[in-house]
Amino acid sequence: MKAHSTETRQAWRAGLIWFDKDHVMQHASDGLLVTERGNDGIHRVVAVGDYRSVQPHYPDLTPTHFPHQWIAPGFVDMHIHYPQTDVIGSPAEGLLPWLTQYTFVHEAKFANAQHAHDVAEFFLDELTRNGVTTALTFATSHPASVTALFEAAQQRHMRLITGKVLQDRHSPDGVRDDTEQSLIDTETLLQRWHGVDRLGYAITPRFAPSCTEAQLRGAGELAAKYPSTWIQSHVAENLDEVRWVHELFPKARSYLSVYQDFGLLRERAVYAHCIHFDAADRALMRDTRTAAAISPTSNLFLGSGFFDYASAQASGMRHGLASDVGGGTSFSPFHTMLAAYTVGREGQTKPGLSLSPEQLWWQHTAGAAQALGLEGQVGNLLPGCDADFVVLDPQATPLLARRCAQADNMSELLFAWIVLGDDRVIAQTVVQGQVQQSKS
Ligand SMILES: [Zn+2]
Repeated sequence: MKAHSTETRQAWRAGLIWFDKDHVMQHASDGLLVTERGNDGIHRVVAVGDYRSVQPHYPDLTPTHFPHQWIAPGFVDMHIHYPQTDVIGSPAEGLLPWLTQYTFVHEAKFANAQHAHDVAEFFLDELTRNGVTTALTFATSHPASVTALFEAAQQRHMRLITGKVLQDRHSPDGVRDDTEQSLIDTETLLQRWHGVDRLGYAITPRFAPSCTEAQLRGAGELAAKYPSTWIQSHVAENLDEVRWVHELFPKARSYLSVYQDFGLLRERAVYAHCIHFDAADRALMRDTRTAAAISPTSNLFLGSGFFDYASAQASGMRHGLASDVGGGTSFSPFHTMLAAYTVGREGQTKPGLSLSPEQLWWQHTAGAAQALGLEGQVGNLLPGCDADFVVLDPQATPLLARRCAQADNMSELLFAWIVLGDDRVIAQTVVQGQVQQSKS
């Protein structure tokens, strides 16, 4: 194995949080993380653990030290809409009015490449400020919106997955696309960007009601032709939407099975919401290795319902956390984890349970990565993982400092961050060994 020069290696000293190979959270209150740029240009973790045990193996390295702070894996957002950055906080009478009154109006602006570029840069800044280092995001139906985001992410060396939205019916002028051209555009963009640097392409039917059968069939054919691509869409978010799907696809067993009928459930397929499911739907998710992107701030904001954690866990279906901005109300993984806890606790319409802080953290880091098919690459700090991480400040606010000082163990510290935290907790975000932003 070729030796690397010491200049390609970096060391970082702070408290450390990561997950072991059995998915159990580990921590070191004085830890050392060593990263190295490989021959392929990707910075990866080469060592993680207690400072006293790791440091002797790297005596020549001078670590960047963050005293009293904690290094944790960069967060992974499984479902977000970058063009809805300006839609956040738009109230409406539920999902379908929200789409027509606000979302489609804003998305129509992305026909303009300069507008797409400006929003893409702001969006990536905002992800970074909030400690999100990997995202699976919708673009709009305009190919220029995809190009703008890929170019911006490539410049920042970020791991990012996006795709052109497919919506050839039940969509207004300005966002509705043409069936045949939409599939040609998808394949052209996919061939241009998928697997380039750290970028990935996601075949993106908006949701079943917005796509003709011909468009869904074409999307499924592309998904089969390019099996390493992602698929992203929405399912079973809202009861009005579920009724509409039953009218449009009367032969389908369920909303989810519409996607199955068109070849759109498989490994690397990610469906937001998954609220109004039955046991057969959850079994179908599990058997096809399809993942649910749970979007609790969005579901609470739009009043869509409560994701049934107990049934999801019992079924063995893959799931992880997502912001779903702009239906979601925050870019912050802390807000999303807190909302997930609240949704889990709700016990009037489904079984309620208490998700542990370690489980919540897992769902937004290594668990989300696993659901995306990126286990061992992002969302964790085991050797071999990409060197994307955050530095957390337990003293970011007076109340947080006071509460954290009284935490008796790691679980209490994690819960204090989840309940009281926001972007102020993210002291640094490091992508590929490069500090992206600094509060100082
Ligand atoms: Zn969404």
